[in-house]
Amino acid sequence: QQDEQRHRIESTISHLFAPEDAGLHGALQAAKDAGLPEIQINPIQGKLLQVFATACQAHKILEIGSLAGYSGIWLARALPADGHLITLEINPQHAEVVRSSFANAGVGDKTEVRVGNALELLPTLTAEAPFDLIFIDADKASYPQYLEWAIKLSRTGSIIIADNCVRNGIAFQPTADMDADTAGLVKYNQLTREDPRLTTIVLANDNDYTDGLNVAVVKAN
Ligand code: SAM
Repeated sequence: QQDEQRHRIESTISHLFAPEDAGLHGALQAAKDAGLPEIQINPIQGKLLQVFATACQAHKILEIGSLAGYSGIWLARALPADGHLITLEINPQHAEVVRSSFANAGVGDKTEVRVGNALELLPTLTAEAPFDLIFIDADKASYPQYLEWAIKLSRTGSIIIADNCVRNGIAFQPTADMDADTAGLVKYNQLTREDPRLTTIVLANDNDYTDGLNVAVVKAN
């Protein structure tokens, strides 16, 4: 019964505060048609990304892990007319879907998809830094390295957000036999909690509050 109530509350917030338009629906449909996994953020998280992008007056946004462009559309829509989103994606098939979903959603002119392993692409971005907001949502094992790069590519006041940082609580509990993805998430939560350059919170806002975003603001850089 509690689960049902949680589900209802999440749906209501989503419906009232984060309705999806044709562009977002189009990205979801394109993902389905291309056989991509349904592992995108939810609408509440998409709206939250927009709230944070607006709060830090984002002109330049970096995303690591594009999938079909769903989160990218939410982010790009928070940008001013001369703003720019760069999204990094390792899978060329995903990147094709993203480009067409961005165009379809009317954000093609302020977005750019770069194809490759994010760990190789990130060092090429220093000339384009600082980014005002960085959203991390790719392979979980590399999250600690993504954090290091995100801080390097940010400014004081930048916001660094990472998805899947709750995972039913396992993202807080180191165990002897945890896999590389879990270890990456546990380390990410620990690093963001302890780094004196950041002020950080984890928000449980997905899958009926069993998963969610780690949100860190860069205090000094
Ligand atoms: N942010 C997307 C959204 O919410 O709409 C979902 C991203 S999905 C969870 C993760 C994506 O990261 C996949 O498309 C995957 O191919 C990509 N990815 C995985 N490892 C990567 C890497 N090393 N570099 C770049 N992209 C990677």
